[in-house]
Amino acid sequence: MRTRVAVIGGGLAGITAALGCADAGLDVTLLESRGHLGGLTHSFRRGGLAVDNGQHVFLRCCTSYRRLLDRLGVTGKVYLQPRLAIQVRSPRLPAPVWLRRNGLPAPWHLADSVLKYRPLPLLDRMRFAGAALALRRVDPVSAASDRRSFGGWLSEHGQSEQAVRKLWDLVGIATLNAPATGASLGLAATVFQLGLLTEADAADIGWSTVPLRELHGDPAAERLAAAGARVLTGAKVTGLVPGGGTWRIAASTGALEADRVVLAVPPPVAARLLPPGSVTLPAGWHDALGSSPIVNAHVVFDRRVLDEPFFAAVDSPVQWVFDRTAPSGVDGGQYLAVSLSAADEFIDLPVAEIRRRMVPALRRLLPSSAGASVRDFFVTRERHATFRPAPGCAALRPAAVTAAEGVVLAGAWTATGWPATMEGAARSGEAATQALLGSIPGVPGRSEGIPA
Ligand SMILES: Cc1cc2nc3c(=O)[nH]c(=O)nc-3n(C[C@H](O)[C@H](O)[C@H](O)COP(=O)(O)OP(=O)(O)OC[C@H]3O[C@@H](n4cnc5c(N)ncnc54)[C@H](O)[C@@H]3O)c2cc1C
Repeated sequence: MRTRVAVIGGGLAGITAALGCADAGLDVTLLESRGHLGGLTHSFRRGGLAVDNGQHVFLRCCTSYRRLLDRLGVTGKVYLQPRLAIQVRSPRLPAPVWLRRNGLPAPWHLADSVLKYRPLPLLDRMRFAGAALALRRVDPVSAASDRRSFGGWLSEHGQSEQAVRKLWDLVGIATLNAPATGASLGLAATVFQLGLLTEADAADIGWSTVPLRELHGDPAAERLAAAGARVLTGAKVTGLVPGGGTWRIAASTGALEADRVVLAVPPPVAARLLPPGSVTLPAGWHDALGSSPIVNAHVVFDRRVLDEPFFAAVDSPVQWVFDRTAPSGVDGGQYLAVSLSAADEFIDLPVAEIRRRMVPALRRLLPSSAGASVRDFFVTRERHATFRPAPGCAALRPAAVTAAEGVVLAGAWTATGWPATMEGAARSGEAATQALLGSIPGVPGRSEGIPA
């Protein structure tokens, strides 16, 4: 009889694990409480518009996520910059500036861009190099780095408040979902070392050219079915009970029995479903890990106001802005998504107040919007977009293997070493697959393409 695997949770982590197990010949059932797969990466229709719950980007160094895109057969539906180029706008500057990589190896590939970075005074630009080189030497996995604040470390390394705000946080807030002052040094070191300080091409930015559901959820359902897995949507799991070497899973669609379980749900749900003593973390670990919100303000102008696919902003409440016109199918004009990470300040504001703050700020960054009118404005909010990457967070992230025999964990919040990203989710799914396959006699412990 084939080993029966229940994968609970159909986000990117669960999808990766379910495909990995199905590809290894196991009998897989994926249970997802919502009506579709994709988890925190999804889209919906608003009249004629296809709207993503929030803009998502990835980097060239996101190897597990890109492997997942390949497996889903959708690599042709993303665009990956051949060479990193970020346009940065400020209402205080007459023209945009660029952070572009040159042809030199890392970390020198950004040196000339940083030296010409006009939002900062020359002294701050010159001091940036010293801190960047020191950050290369930080051990990203040590407990001491985990406990330390990235903001504190930056100021000890000569970075002024405005250097942190206008340069380090420009990248850090978007990738960590926290400002430097609220981020763990270890996690920040991982992001900057991998993305900007090791390989020159690592931080080339990629994004979907189709709505997220067409990139992840729908192809995943098709590929899983083709691989022989069962996909149950609208299946909310409410109980996980051991019995005689198997697991009995209670779900809103009915009960089922499995030999192995991948729990790929958010932390509070995992904490509720896991039998007591499954993870060696302090009581209340999931509350302590916490979550951090992301808000997107969606603005449809009646005409074109931006020529670039995206830009980042400084000296403004606007953070990153993406042109969503093509994937959304908007009928004329231009549709921009303003992505606000670490959005504690915005998450509970009424739409009218977010509009009052965002539209004038956006207009100050986009002089060509002067004669344009806003045809539509709406907001998407994800209160629990990521875990909170605060100092000490690594000590609250469980590994894939649990003490509950046959149950493994997956999710961007597990101990991947990465912040909560699509790459972290895909990595966790691969780690869970590897651990699970390794526990089954006669099944190779490592499937092809999965790194050790
Ligand atoms: C607005 C926004 C913007 C983001 N931007 C980026 C970005 O630019 N780049 C990037 O890399 N990452 C980004 N992220 C983070 C990224 O989306 C997540 O890290 C990743 O998608 C998490 O995947 P996951 O599978 O670990 O978790 P989830 O997507 O949370 O999947 C968990 C699944 O479990 C299901 N579930 C919950 N309870 C149950 C239950 N009882 N029974 C069955 N199923 C259940 C949920 O419905 C969900 O589908 C962003 C996130 C948000 C919200």
